[in-house]
Amino acid sequence: MQTAFTDAQRADPDISESEKAIRGCVHCGFCTATCPTYVLLGDELDSPRGRIVLMKVMLESGRPADATTVKHIDRCLSCLSCMTTCPSGVNYMHLVDHARKHIEATFRRPLAERVLRAMLASVLTQPGRLRLVLTLARRFRRTGEALAKRLPPPLGPRLSAMLDLAPKRAPQDAPLEPGIYSPTGSGKPRARVALLAGCAQQILAPEINRATVRLLNRLDCEVVVPQEAGCCGALAHHLGSEQAALASVRANIAAWEDAGQLDAVIANASGCGTMLKDYGFLLRGDAAWKERAERTADFSRDLCEFVTTLGLPQGARAPAALRVAYQSACSMQHGQKLAGKPQALLRQAGFTVLEPAEAHLCCGSAGTYNVLQPEIANQLRARKAGHLAALRADVIASGNIGCMSQLEGAVPVPMVHTAELLDWATGGPPPLKLKLE
Ligand code: SF4
Ligand code: SF4
Repeated sequence: MQTAFTDAQRADPDISESEKAIRGCVHCGFCTATCPTYVLLGDELDSPRGRIVLMKVMLESGRPADATTVKHIDRCLSCLSCMTTCPSGVNYMHLVDHARKHIEATFRRPLAERVLRAMLASVLTQPGRLRLVLTLARRFRRTGEALAKRLPPPLGPRLSAMLDLAPKRAPQDAPLEPGIYSPTGSGKPRARVALLAGCAQQILAPEINRATVRLLNRLDCEVVVPQEAGCCGALAHHLGSEQAALASVRANIAAWEDAGQLDAVIANASGCGTMLKDYGFLLRGDAAWKERAERTADFSRDLCEFVTTLGLPQGARAPAALRVAYQSACSMQHGQKLAGKPQALLRQAGFTVLEPAEAHLCCGSAGTYNVLQPEIANQLRARKAGHLAALRADVIASGNIGCMSQLEGAVPVPMVHTAELLDWATGGPPPLKLKLE
């Protein structure tokens, strides 16, 4: 696609990257067939190709974002399915991230929207605040639901979506304490890794980090969880809050550098892993941090990717003949291009793995999308839940807490993390949700 940026505009590194992406698009439209919003809405402006045109016009003009552009960019899930499909290698991720930053800098959203976005960024990334909000949601659920029915759109559906996503049961475990978790053997561990303990996941499902540490220890890896590392920055980044996102990125890099010699930083939420692998790009303009960020990105690994490299222990065996439906998160298959790896590990561990129809389409979670765009998110959830239910599996596994929270109430069987099944198959306890059934 031709562009008309001026030389002065091209001096901005964000513009020069976006121009590369826009010029790479040959307008073939292959991506439309695999874009969830185009599949649902059938509007060219809700397709990757249409959005690229909107972003090109917005960025070339240098003017503040207009309401139409904001509407269609807000509807994008950042699922990156279009990047998997695109034969021209268009980097839609960096382009839409830049567009979001421009929107946040130039477009004034209605007050209620600004408040909601600020609240999501501040609650979801702070475990203490999230725990408090979830406790209130459990206690006042009925009142909240009644209120949601009375409030007009978009407030009512958004409140309803938030209540729907809040787990009905309190977590059975406390978040993992920061510290060093060593394997039981007396020799030098095979590897030393930092675990990104995450923010929301620690409160929503602390059992995932515990299973991850047990699994890594069993594979003779020492696991470090630094006190100073926190949210990966993805939530703020996708809300267009660049400064807040970069503050998290820098804090994490510094925390992992201070943790001593590491062989990898492990993420067990694929959405966070996608963000970690982009740290180098995000800090490319900051001379003091560029190389450090690139180093961190280079040794960031999804848990399944790392376990695949090490190999499962000899004798790993599923303790029960379970049929496992695998929900492949967009960040796993499109963001990190790890399609097939988690499924292969689960098969090696002795589980029967089934994959749903339309596995490439997003479940509608997408960070805070399910709260901000509940109508589209609910349609995608119902579609995904239908495909998963059709498999008649005993359990559904995923490698991303976002998918788990989104689908939990819509599927007929428990949802667990891949780490919990691999931990179980290698000698750990059964997944908590299987025990509770
Ligand atoms: S990121 Fe997903 S929703 Fe957005 S344009 Fe690409 S395929 Fe469509
Ligand atoms: S598949 Fe790639 S090149 Fe073709 S329209 Fe979509 S983004 Fe452009």
